[in-house]
Amino acid sequence: MATQENCIFCKIVAGEIPATKVYEDEQAVAFRDINPQAPTHALVIPRTHVASLDDAGESDEALLGHLLRVAARVAADEGQAETGYRTVINTGAGAGQSVFHIHVHVLGGRRLAWPPG
Ligand code: 5GP
Ligand code: ZN
Repeated sequence: MATQENCIFCKIVAGEIPATKVYEDEQAVAFRDINPQAPTHALVIPRTHVASLDDAGESDEALLGHLLRVAARVAADEGQAETGYRTVINTGAGAGQSVFHIHVHVLGGRRLAWPPG
């Protein structure tokens, strides 16, 4: 599915909702999280609507790889490549997914505890 009505991240891709974009290309958009959990907190999303990692199919393999490469690029642009950063994909409500358009969190700029809560 290309876009989904009432999907907040599809609306960000379409420019219908404002976001502070830090990167975009033909397949992906990255923007700052509205409720940052670290000094660097960006979200990398595909332009096309994929609800979650659980909904990604074989045809999405290259796209998933691309999202991770964009995440690394965003982290580097934010100056986090040397100190380290975390990429997170929450999948399903039980894991904390609240927006059902797949997104990679890029978190950095502070010490990150492990295991996550
Ligand atoms: P999840 O909980 O699904 O893993 O992550 C969703 C993230 O999207 C949350 O960190 C939340 O702060 C962020 N978010 C939700 N709505 C918006 C929005 O309208 N704009 C931006 N920039 N971030 C949003
Ligand atoms: Zn969407």
